[in-house]
Amino acid sequence: MSIEVSNLTKIYGQQKAINNISFKIDKAEIVGFLGPNGAGKSTTMKIITGYLEADNGNAFVSGLNVQSDKLETKKKIGYLPEGNPLYYEMYVREYLEFIANVHQIKNIKSRIEEVIILTGLSVESKKKIGQLSKGYKQRVGLAAALIHDPEVLILDEPTSGLDPNQIVEIRDVIKNLGKNKTVLFSSHILQEVEAICDRVIIINKGNIVADDQLSNLQKANKNSHAVIVQFKEAIEPELLTQISEVDKIEQLQTTHYKLQTANPESVRKQLLELSLQHNLNIVSLQSENSSLEEVFRNLTN
Ligand code: ADP
Repeated sequence: MSIEVSNLTKIYGQQKAINNISFKIDKAEIVGFLGPNGAGKSTTMKIITGYLEADNGNAFVSGLNVQSDKLETKKKIGYLPEGNPLYYEMYVREYLEFIANVHQIKNIKSRIEEVIILTGLSVESKKKIGQLSKGYKQRVGLAAALIHDPEVLILDEPTSGLDPNQIVEIRDVIKNLGKNKTVLFSSHILQEVEAICDRVIIINKGNIVADDQLSNLQKANKNSHAVIVQFKEAIEPELLTQISEVDKIEQLQTTHYKLQTANPESVRKQLLELSLQHNLNIVSLQSENSSLEEVFRNLTN
């Protein structure tokens, strides 16, 4: 087991930031830690990395207790904190050398070149950090987190504040890193998690509300299907209430309706029957898996 969090609780004054949470992450897994702002993601990550003490419970990294083996666990963890604090006056290589020295790494020069390649920093590596775009600053943060070749990477909102192209690039870097390392990264954006990993842990108001493969979450969602029907002309919306096994009817446009159901086949069939009975023209009829967005909203509302 690479990361194990067991019954962690953290209270700031009156505010319970995380409430008795537990999860395990295997070696070389890449897991998205998803939740709305203020859900407790950063707090959990700070505890796993040993920067913050829990009020209750334990966190283990590669079998070591992060509180009692602080120094040893720091060697095993690469941490990209939220906001990615960097020294803007330093040159990229100078900064990486500084971090490498903190970690007392041997073969500093060759390791710096390795992480520069791994994070795609080569073209910008001669600049001062302050001169870099946000996306490249983020790569410097990742390179610094990787320099001591940690087994586990903890990345707190690694794409926050980046433009869409930079987001795609950093996601690719993270995906690649995940081939050899255990990665836990946080995000408040579902699409992010979908793009990078298969497993997701969802946290809301300090509680874990889901921990599963994304595909299972989709399957488990009762309203996991929607039938979208387009009529040629506007219809009486009440007609649709005759259809059984529909959980929710939503009018998308004058002639478009979305019917949430666990049984899309039956709903499609009933729609066709209804159109025959009432002389309605159906222009299109499609089924879709309800988006994970919906699962996420249901879990965190
Ligand atoms: P997330 O990373 O999911 O946005 P955080 O872990 O930063 O959430 O915060 C969880 C909750 O704890 C929030 O309500 C936040 O306001 C509160 N919190 C976080 N840090 C502190 C702090 N240093 N002092 C008081 N409350 C805090």
